[in-house]
Amino acid sequence: MATTGSPELLIVMGSSATSDQTEHVLSRLAEHGIEARVQRGREATVIGAIGDREQLALLPLEGYPGVEQVLPILKPYKLVAREVSPDMTVIDVDGRRLGDGWFGLIAGPCTVEYREQTLATARAVAAAGATWLRGGAFKPRTSPYTFQGIGLDALEILREAKAETGLPIVTELMDPRHVEAVLETADVIQIGARNMQNFVLLAEVGRAEKPVLIKRGPSASVEELLMAAEYVAKEGNDRIILCERGITTFERSTRYTLDLGSVAVLKNETHLPVIVDPSHAAGRRDLVLPLARAAVAVGADGIIVESHPRPEEALCDGPQQIPSDEFGAFADEVRSFVSLMGKQIG
Ligand code: PEP
Ligand code: MN
Repeated sequence: MATTGSPELLIVMGSSATSDQTEHVLSRLAEHGIEARVQRGREATVIGAIGDREQLALLPLEGYPGVEQVLPILKPYKLVAREVSPDMTVIDVDGRRLGDGWFGLIAGPCTVEYREQTLATARAVAAAGATWLRGGAFKPRTSPYTFQGIGLDALEILREAKAETGLPIVTELMDPRHVEAVLETADVIQIGARNMQNFVLLAEVGRAEKPVLIKRGPSASVEELLMAAEYVAKEGNDRIILCERGITTFERSTRYTLDLGSVAVLKNETHLPVIVDPSHAAGRRDLVLPLARAAVAVGADGIIVESHPRPEEALCDGPQQIPSDEFGAFADEVRSFVSLMGKQIG
């Protein structure tokens, strides 16, 4: 359900509160014209009350039966804030889970170039235990003179790869005009780093019925990333994954600077799952595994990694793509770190 205003107060129902008591609070709020968002967790139910904070303060919320605590939401992000959800969000696509103990291993080519390239990669990553298949149909490129992706034809190839391997598809949406076509193929809609603050696009995917993967802009703060997620959640779509993919700094030895501190911060600030893209952060194949290990160690809920059957011939991001025939060994290394963290590849 879309939210019209900003949730300002959290009403936490005690663990022994009955559903009648929750309904009673909701009807009192409704009587005062106050919109509410209810999150029913395993342990507790949390109600986000949307309305003017001063007007809300006039209601004797703490006195209603079953109410344990009433807290103001002081952060600028509300629906995605950690406090709002009693449980961590798990994204489940066709039984492949990501979040709260389930680690997502998302892999595939940077870009869908041609049928055999994508199918060969899909087979290799599926055999290695990847959970979702990535691949760009529409590519955001720094230079307008470089390969821009093959668009709609790529979506057809991705559908074939899914039919063969069973892997759900993660692919980028760049333009609201492509929503329908991308939604037909994508199981998870990727919003690329450069579009992280494209608010029209964020609202558009907020109305979609598919999970959304938002990549952090290279110059965006953690708070700006959370506000981007808030745009999506506000429209009613709360199936959101955040991705740290490196930020621009003065450092030139890696393509971007992988900000793993942001992952630790995000895990405190939001109930949404957080993944890491070591491929774009590193820009170099030899650094992808160490950065992937570090991502697992800092508490990421997954990684998104690029692979190509012949990276030396790749039309985009060749130097960072893992050769498909080496992906199994890479995945084995990652898997052992994931189990060290007490998690399981979803
Ligand atoms: C991608 O993952 O395909 C991509 C283009 O990455 P980013 O948006 O992080 O640059
Ligand atoms: Mn790429």
